[in-house]
Amino acid sequence: MIKRFFKHMFGKAAQIQIIGRCHIIPFELHSVSREGISPAARRVAEELQAAGFQAFVVGGAVRDLLLNRYPKDFDIATNATPEAVRKVFRRSRIIGRRFRLVHVMFGSDTVEVSTFRRAIEHDEAETDEHGRLLRDNEFGDQEQDAARRDFTANAMFYDPTTQAIYDYHHGYEDIRANTLRMIGDPAVRYREDPVRMLRAVRLSAKLGMQIEAATAAPISQLKDLLVNVPEARLLDEMLKLLLSGHAYECVKKLRSMNLHHGLLPMLDVILEQPMGEKFVMLALQNTDKRISEDKPVSPAFLFAALLWHEVLAVWTARQQKGERPVAALHEAMNEVLERQRAQLAIPRRYDTVMKEIWLLQPRFTQRSGQRPLRLLAQERFRGAYDFLLLRCESGEIDMQLGAWWTEFQDTSEERRTEMLQIDEAPKKPRRRKKKAAPASGDVQVNETGQDETKSDEYMQAEFPSD
Ligand code: ATP
Ligand code: MG
Repeated sequence: MIKRFFKHMFGKAAQIQIIGRCHIIPFELHSVSREGISPAARRVAEELQAAGFQAFVVGGAVRDLLLNRYPKDFDIATNATPEAVRKVFRRSRIIGRRFRLVHVMFGSDTVEVSTFRRAIEHDEAETDEHGRLLRDNEFGDQEQDAARRDFTANAMFYDPTTQAIYDYHHGYEDIRANTLRMIGDPAVRYREDPVRMLRAVRLSAKLGMQIEAATAAPISQLKDLLVNVPEARLLDEMLKLLLSGHAYECVKKLRSMNLHHGLLPMLDVILEQPMGEKFVMLALQNTDKRISEDKPVSPAFLFAALLWHEVLAVWTARQQKGERPVAALHEAMNEVLERQRAQLAIPRRYDTVMKEIWLLQPRFTQRSGQRPLRLLAQERFRGAYDFLLLRCESGEIDMQLGAWWTEFQDTSEERRTEMLQIDEAPKKPRRRKKKAAPASGDVQVNETGQDETKSDEYMQAEFPSD
């Protein structure tokens, strides 16, 4: 007791212990207490340890706790094989073919348990002609498991029983210095798995960490390797990035590192037009805000936003060639989606919602008769209305139109009738104007914000209500 008191007072206990390459950092130094670990993850670690195995919280969770953030999930790493883990927990199942993991269920929580793995040495590794690793699923020990991870900050192990952190790559120091550093030779590690380039961008944006110079340096030369990554994985990472709550920062960073080319080829073009850029950036900020408020976000909405100005451009061009607005919009949507699919396939399951959002846009300009009420009753009204507001905010269309819908949807029946009448009145003389395809690049755009006549006119004439 007295010894412990003295140790505490004079800091002897609070020292990093070094065993081989491993730095063991005691609780007194890092202050991450086991209370910060989810009860389910703690139970899993404790039960594995009670069964005689090693078990640690690993990866992103340790990093986030050290950064005083609440982790998204708590993964456990162990020296038990998946079969052995399976035996310890009645409610568990083995998942994955390439990497076999165990999902342990506790109530509504699922804890992912992975067996320590080793990175396969370069000469024995199976890689494609660009150096991409095709196989890395051999079991290993804790040190090897740390070495196969991407960044030093992501490669630490936390023992909830002793509250010590096991660190083989100076991740603790890097976190304290706010540095994101690749383990090993960055160029080799990017070649093994080009997605690590996107992870560097996403994690640094999300965590406010600086990408260390040598880690950032090879990216500009190696960025084209992303083309070799299977599409599903790329999309997965893109979604993580867009739904990280830091999409705005991420896309800004992707652009500054010139990494956005192969991913969202449309984005290249869109971001070069000031109006397109403003719209996309607003959409990203809006998504980030919704995530920070714990509101749901739909990937389909986001993709619809990312591609909107492309759709708008094609739609306009087709109308200028004399196509009718409805047909031209359908063609424009299909054309843009097909072009996008050739690069980074947006899953077809999002198509319906994206198209619904786009198709409802022209209908917001129809503000008389029964049409506004029918639009209000549409299942996709809310999303389409949010989309409309983004268009207003970005300066693409008149703010008044958004304001009109904001009022209309929540107001009394009396006021609605009044609004419909007010809106109907000045339209009649304008209807006599000759219908003309818009001359500028934007269809129902009125950048001056003064006049919606043109769009109102041909929309009303051409668009079916439902
Ligand atoms: P997030 O907070 O977004 O979940 P994360 O770092 O936890 O970030 P995950 O995809 O959950 O990301 O990965 C868990 C851990 O697996 C990482 O912390 C890292 O140690 C390791 N890891 C993930 N992807 C890679 C990769 N491409 N190469 C090497 N290690 C990786
Ligand atoms: Mg994670």
